[in-house]
Amino acid sequence: MEGPSRKVVTLDRSTLSDQLITRTWAFFLSYHAKQLPSGRELQRKDWVTLNRARAKVGKTARTLQKWKLRPNSECPCGNQNQPMDHILSECTEGPHCTDQDLRDCTDAAQAWITHWRDKI
Ligand SMILES: [Zn+2]
Repeated sequence: MEGPSRKVVTLDRSTLSDQLITRTWAFFLSYHAKQLPSGRELQRKDWVTLNRARAKVGKTARTLQKWKLRPNSECPCGNQNQPMDHILSECTEGPHCTDQDLRDCTDAAQAWITHWRDKI
């Protein structure tokens, strides 16, 4: 008795057309681009500032005091404390923006970043 005949299929560039490879790659890139948060087109320094604000972990006066790098957590505007929420929504020293602005990287978020990027 003879066994079933076997066909060996090798998947390489000669079996897959260049067009299919290109299309698959384009899909992969667009799929993963959508998973990334907005603002990725910003310059690195702005991108870092944006993500610090999103995560509320910037080098604010409050954080520096916590790290014992400052004697107090006072904001230049006169507020006793300078947590990230203060400079995002209350501080008179710069523009304000919301968490939604930060998520969508709106013009308000970018104006906020431009003002604060060298300060926090
Ligand atoms: Zn302030």
